Amino acid sequence: MAIERIVDTSSHIDDTEEQRIEVSLRPQSFSEYVGQERLKRNLRLAIDAAKKRGEPLDHVLLYGPPGLGKTTMATVIANEMGTNLRITSGPAIEKAGDLASILTNLADGDILFIDEIHRLGRAVEEILYSAMEDFKLDIVIGKGPAARSIRLDLPQFTVIGATTRTGSLAAPLRDRFGHIYRLEFYEPEDIAKIVTRSAAILESSIRHEAANLLSTRARLTPRIANRLLKRVRDYADVNGDGIIDVKTTTSALEMLEVDELGLDPADRNLLQSILENYGDNPVGLTTIAALTGDEATTIEDFYEPYLLQIGFIERTPRGRRITLRAQAHLGYQPKK
Ligand code: ADP
Repeated sequence: MAIERIVDTSSHIDDTEEQRIEVSLRPQSFSEYVGQERLKRNLRLAIDAAKKRGEPLDHVLLYGPPGLGKTTMATVIANEMGTNLRITSGPAIEKAGDLASILTNLADGDILFIDEIHRLGRAVEEILYSAMEDFKLDIVIGKGPAARSIRLDLPQFTVIGATTRTGSLAAPLRDRFGHIYRLEFYEPEDIAKIVTRSAAILESSIRHEAANLLSTRARLTPRIANRLLKRVRDYADVNGDGIIDVKTTTSALEMLEVDELGLDPADRNLLQSILENYGDNPVGLTTIAALTGDEATTIEDFYEPYLLQIGFIERTPRGRRITLRAQAHLGYQPKK
């Protein structure tokens, strides 16, 4: 059974109040967008050049683990270009007709953000190729011998695609992006800046040391930083005077069972199950998924990137292996 996690990087929220808060915390411009300096530098240049020429921005592909700011960057780009942003996702565009109706409703210069673009269906993907390349839409009208193909002109738009894995993207699709950037995990100092900025927006008072402490527990991921901040703020409101200091932060994190490295019970369970069953031998992804009861894609997208980043898991040709560092953290003693 999958466990509900405080450190979950997925963006699934069904509470409207939470959604309102999430939107209010989202940076709107490059100056508000913390970190990812190389990405910002390159995109700033591309945007300035496109604006100077009066052309739409070339298509942009952003990849990297969830919660690092891909959707946010799409919002920033649309604001900086001064254009409309239309947000959709790979799984939401089920049929070729769905994509056709989205594309024909765009205006010149509009930005179409496609989250989880690696999950587009084959037929949809093929329509997207010519739409991205020549701003033409090829559609077939009618069936059987009477069927004929027509070409429609589309507005000059920009696709911003987001994916957690470029490997799953068909090469012809990837080739149609002029800009391909990887989002990196953040430095703790940047996470501390994000926490401080978010606390100010939430009109919450946070001590400098508490922001620093949170920055080491948030898996170097802005979405988790904001989520932890909200829970710690609740804790401070209920158990103290509302001020977030080191003491309330430590107690709240203890209650949430988030450890010094930002690992939660689900991570520890994953590492421990592998160690107990396979020791430090390499294990395949499907085996790990079977051990924890998660989907293999959940392991790949939500657990693994951070565990790889902190050197707790190693990828070998024969599977994933738990490192000595992880064993030391868990206090694991190998069986003789
Ligand atoms: P992704 O699309 O990569 O899953 P999002 O763009 O939805 O991630 O980011 C998750 C949340 O983290 C956003 O709502 C935003 O508030 C915050 N965030 C992301 N990147 C930054 C950043 N660079 N600076 C400040 N906040 C950020």
